Amino acid sequence: MPSLLAVYAHPDDESLFSGGVLARNAAEGGRTAVVTATWAEGTHRAAELAEALRLLGISEEPRLLGYADSRVPDSAPGSPRLCDAPLDEAVGRLAGHIRDVRPEIVVTHDAYGGVTGHEDHVRTHRLTVLAVQAAGFGRLYPEAGAPWQPRVLCLAAHPHSAGRAMSGLGGTAADRLWTVPDDDRITTTVDVRPWLSRKWAAIRAHRCEARLGAAPGLLAGLPADVREQLLGTEWYIRQDLVHAGDGGEGRPLTGGRRPVRAGPGPGAHRAAAEGSGCGGAVGRSWVRARWA
Ligand SMILES: [Zn+2]
Repeated sequence: MPSLLAVYAHPDDESLFSGGVLARNAAEGGRTAVVTATWAEGTHRAAELAEALRLLGISEEPRLLGYADSRVPDSAPGSPRLCDAPLDEAVGRLAGHIRDVRPEIVVTHDAYGGVTGHEDHVRTHRLTVLAVQAAGFGRLYPEAGAPWQPRVLCLAAHPHSAGRAMSGLGGTAADRLWTVPDDDRITTTVDVRPWLSRKWAAIRAHRCEARLGAAPGLLAGLPADVREQLLGTEWYIRQDLVHAGDGGEGRPLTGGRRPVRAGPGPGAHRAAAEGSGCGGAVGRSWVRARWA
């Protein structure tokens, strides 16, 4: 099983957007970890997040970047809001977690920031896109650990067709949801109904959000069959970060990989090992076979 790291903005996003995939990867024995960008250690939301991860079957404690929620200043006393955090500092912190977990797959919000378009979600998406690149280059953030290049980035998204089913939840009209306009852009549709009980238990662990009437509370008020319809599928836009293929569709940016370094040497050996699929190709084939 591949190692998988989910990077989300707030405690509860991991369960709402990717609870099924996280539970599945953990149950099947893949290393599974979660970075959450906002809320600090010692807050009630951090404690709820830790409980949610346990309910998803994740053995690792949550990793908190420790920035403040843009709408809740006391979520991280003494720290800047995520949206105000210096870019290099935030990317470096996240790259450090990527290098520590060494995931083959990284999951985060899509460019819209998920179906709500929350500014913290958009910021988390942007930081993650930068960090998955930077983590592989050892001279960037050298203090953040040995370089590690994830192979796949998966962006959690909602297609328009799903948006129609969600309209009305919390009084939100379909045209106000941040859904992906062209369903064809969704590369990966995952039926997570076998893991739905774990996913729903993890969502409910975010009790304060439920009490405040946020998504966990809105979902709790729905009939079970409607809730299953909303939570039973997860959608992703998959982006290969390593060797996206050279089949000609990307002209003029196509070409072979080997000529980068001619002749024998450490670099050539490394390229050959990657090309032959030792170890690292497991992640690609898993995503292709199991997430398709
Ligand atoms: Zn959120």
